[in-house]
Amino acid sequence: MTRTELPPPRAHLSLSTLEPTGFGSGFLSGLVSAVLGIGGLGGVLTLRFPGFLGAAELRPLYGLADVRPAIALALLASLLLGTISACLRVNKTLAVIGTGCTLLAALLGGSQVPAGAQVGHGSWLGVDFFVVNLVLYSAVFIPLERFFALRPHQHVFRGEWVVDLTYFFINALLIEVLTLLTLQPAAVLFSWARLAPVTGAVASLPLIVQVPAILLIADFTQYWVHRAFHRVPALWRIHAIHHSAENMDWLAGSRLHLVDAVVTRGLTYVPIFVLGFPQTALIPYVFIVAAQATFIHANVRWEFWPFRRFIATPAFHHWHHSAEREAVDRNFAVHTPLWDRLFGTYYLPDRWPAAYGLCGGRDVPSRWLTQLVYPFRRKQSSSATKSTGRDSATTGTTRGHDEHDNHRN
Ligand SMILES: [Zn+2]
Ligand SMILES: [Zn+2]
Repeated sequence: MTRTELPPPRAHLSLSTLEPTGFGSGFLSGLVSAVLGIGGLGGVLTLRFPGFLGAAELRPLYGLADVRPAIALALLASLLLGTISACLRVNKTLAVIGTGCTLLAALLGGSQVPAGAQVGHGSWLGVDFFVVNLVLYSAVFIPLERFFALRPHQHVFRGEWVVDLTYFFINALLIEVLTLLTLQPAAVLFSWARLAPVTGAVASLPLIVQVPAILLIADFTQYWVHRAFHRVPALWRIHAIHHSAENMDWLAGSRLHLVDAVVTRGLTYVPIFVLGFPQTALIPYVFIVAAQATFIHANVRWEFWPFRRFIATPAFHHWHHSAEREAVDRNFAVHTPLWDRLFGTYYLPDRWPAAYGLCGGRDVPSRWLTQLVYPFRRKQSSSATKSTGRDSATTGTTRGHDEHDNHRN
């Protein structure tokens, strides 16, 4: 049979595809359709159930008059782009997600859905926070990683993107709980440590000093908490989830066990709270940490010479995720390599890592729920221990640093 006699490829739904992804292939239109469709549906749901689904922090930032036209535009664009993608592409997954979400949003009332009543002050799930995050991060990082890719052949939907997107979704959805768990322990346990002369002096500093001061102080605390997560076997079991990512991009940074996120953020906030930094300085800090923590995971080739010795860059953090042994337990900071340089854990050669993930093998599961329980489960089999060489982490026995380094995975 000659090539021309092959039957045309049949329309199908699949999470992986070998079809081209360039302009005109229906991939970009499908991707934008899916993002806008999910965003539009989330917006409609948040309008319908604001007390249940709307993050309290975001509520003062938008009015119904502002979001309704934006939701209408997003849904319309999603429908159009989804239709274009469905016509151009054999794999209809993105088009179905986009148009499906749009139709569901329309059935629920579309952008004119009646606004539900607010339920008290608290909310449970930050669907609006997820929508804002999804649209903003996709709009910034997908083009960035396409035009300035460190690894151009790495696809948007690379291996294990589903689990990372699940983290992205759940972390945004639980924003209310995570914020509470970050702020409350410091407020409850360390109010006694706040001294009026100190908090007064800190509050009187100009904003331009407060924000860099928070970044330096937070990074110092975060450095040691992060280092402890690497060095204490029971904590490493939790943090290993973050290091199990074998593809680096903006989404990979979301892969963080809930306990890891809460403990790290909660402890990092303690000195900031005790010193009494005002909310006006905390807000820029929260934006900077969210942007930088995402950016340093991105699949972007920028090296930022000559600033890379002072600012944490993608190269700096990519080496933290390297599967090469010489990079094990290096580059713990998020904002500046200064702390790593001071405490002897700085590692930044003039090349990029060859591979990412757990060096020496991996026994971390690949689904969100199994990763959630993984650190608290007893070791299943001796073969897994042999393959990873990390029996100390699973039994909880403490080992010397040299052996820890040799066996870290
Ligand atoms: Zn780490
Ligand atoms: Zn990371």
